[in-house]
Amino acid sequence: MEKVDIDGNMIEVEYVKKPWIRNSYLKFSDNRLVVVSKSERTMQKMIVEHRSWISKHYKQIMNSVRLFDSGSIFYGSKKYNVGYVNSKARPRADILGEDLIIYANSKEAAERFVDRMIRDDTERFAGEMAVAKAAQIGASVGEVKVRRYRKWGVCKNDRTISFNYCISMLPKELQDYVVSHEVAHLKEMNHSGRFWDVVSILCPEYKRFRRELKRYDSVRRRIYAV
Ligand SMILES: [Zn+2]
Repeated sequence: MEKVDIDGNMIEVEYVKKPWIRNSYLKFSDNRLVVVSKSERTMQKMIVEHRSWISKHYKQIMNSVRLFDSGSIFYGSKKYNVGYVNSKARPRADILGEDLIIYANSKEAAERFVDRMIRDDTERFAGEMAVAKAAQIGASVGEVKVRRYRKWGVCKNDRTISFNYCISMLPKELQDYVVSHEVAHLKEMNHSGRFWDVVSILCPEYKRFRRELKRYDSVRRRIYAV
């Protein structure tokens, strides 16, 4: 794979030639720069012209924390290397030091088991924490759901709060912030100053945690290389 030097960072580049497209574009696929363009000449030009954009995004990507990665995941706020052992018995997991070993009858079954394990963990604390935090501000929660989506959490007008199934993978203080944020919406359905005042009652250090949470990437990637 070809590499380009951007501000001293050797970034992998993938050129995709599509003669039929009108507008060339750049994007990142994980930490690899992808240049899609109609000719080789425009590809090189794109990189030169967009150096600062490339540099900024590359730094952001390198600074991000991936909850799911090939070969590793966060589990209970801690990062583990994930191993797979073929087994005919019911899927299960074992923690051995830094390793999380999944026993299952296929890699696909192991992936599903990992998701269920993470979801169970989130279900174990999120609802209870939301109810306790709501009581703290004299509000009541409707239903609490655990879902798989991009957002960390959503609070609806009918007081239903939904959490991303993988919030159990986050560090404890960030879990606390996510729950506090959604619960605060029970009082203020917006992101006004008044809303943040409510958040600060539930999670006094929210400013730091909010900034920190931006580094976390919850995209579900395959853990096992196939
Ligand atoms: Zn919000």
